[in-house]
Amino acid sequence: MSSEVIIFGAGKFGHIALNQYGVNNVKYFVDNNVSLIGKSIEGVPIKKVADAINDSERYKIIIASASYKSMEIQLKALGVRNYAIYKDESDRYYPTDMLVYNPYKDNAQRKLTEKDWIDNMGKNMTVQAINKQVELLYQDNKLFEHIEIETINRCNGNCDFCPVSKKNESRKYAVMERGLFENIIMQLAEIDYTGRLALFSNNEPFLDDDIIDKHRFARGKLPNAKMHLFTNGTLLSVEKFKAVIDYLDELIIDNYHKDLRLIKPCEEIRDYCEQHIELKNKVTIVLRNPHEILTTRGGDAPNRKEMVSYGKERCALPFKQLIIRPDGKVSLCCNDPLGKNTLGDLTKESVLDVWNNDKFKTVRKCLYEGRANWKHCEYCDAFYID
Ligand code: SF4
Repeated sequence: MSSEVIIFGAGKFGHIALNQYGVNNVKYFVDNNVSLIGKSIEGVPIKKVADAINDSERYKIIIASASYKSMEIQLKALGVRNYAIYKDESDRYYPTDMLVYNPYKDNAQRKLTEKDWIDNMGKNMTVQAINKQVELLYQDNKLFEHIEIETINRCNGNCDFCPVSKKNESRKYAVMERGLFENIIMQLAEIDYTGRLALFSNNEPFLDDDIIDKHRFARGKLPNAKMHLFTNGTLLSVEKFKAVIDYLDELIIDNYHKDLRLIKPCEEIRDYCEQHIELKNKVTIVLRNPHEILTTRGGDAPNRKEMVSYGKERCALPFKQLIIRPDGKVSLCCNDPLGKNTLGDLTKESVLDVWNNDKFKTVRKCLYEGRANWKHCEYCDAFYID
């Protein structure tokens, strides 16, 4: 068998895997996103997944993606056995020491148009793999493994794709009361919660003046939770960064600039991290385009106009996520940014009672039977499970 490999996933993890294996050891990439087929990363071509089936006897397929579970199911369904999962043990969003990451590099993840999204989604094999995974999740009745607590419902950014950017904001201003926050954390401590925890959801967390101390409190009570944080970095300083970083397992700074230049706070944090190499494995500054076109988010994304039904497809998020708004209400998922769907109220019910309540059960049944069964979901083209 050859020592060369095929990398399944031409996104950020694929890029990282390419750096580790070396360009000369990677035969080619394969990806479910048909808009990438025919392109290349650092000269390595991107092909269809089907192209790798026969070659898999000779070359090991390395799955390199956050959606590795669904991709593994996909390969098994195709009869492929010669594969391995490229995954960082720490289960990070960015398992890399790449301090500044450009997801658009080499055009592998070029800016997609609305038409690209619509044309590609129906052919996306991940959709089929998610449908299979929900079959298992529906039977398992597992506990949540990803919690987002939005402590303030505001953002100071102005991205075109975001329903709650400054220019699109329509939510009633709310900040989570400290007592409610501590109560939620203590309930998680009682069950020794070890999954992901993020003190943000659809907001900019550093608009909450108390956010650093909330991290201190949560970390103290939940030493085994995996705490990550996304921020746009605009309100960060090196001092604030130093104050919060010890409480986190991972900090992702989405640096928005139309020309993908680093904003000043990010430059300063990059310089600081370069002098403290132990932080390189914890911090990623991601260069982001504020005019990007992303998913419809249940029809709420302002720069997505044409709605296509995905009514027959399933969704895994309400089987895994618990998304809490500042007033204690629990949303459908992270793609319900306006909180149009309320599945429970943590000022009246416990965390576990909400997770096991009839509304959540109804949502899961609806999404098991297909997105058309839940109003917010039919036109949602967000397909991810991890
Ligand atoms: S289909 Fe979309 S809106 Fe509905 S639960 Fe899934 S991700 Fe959320």
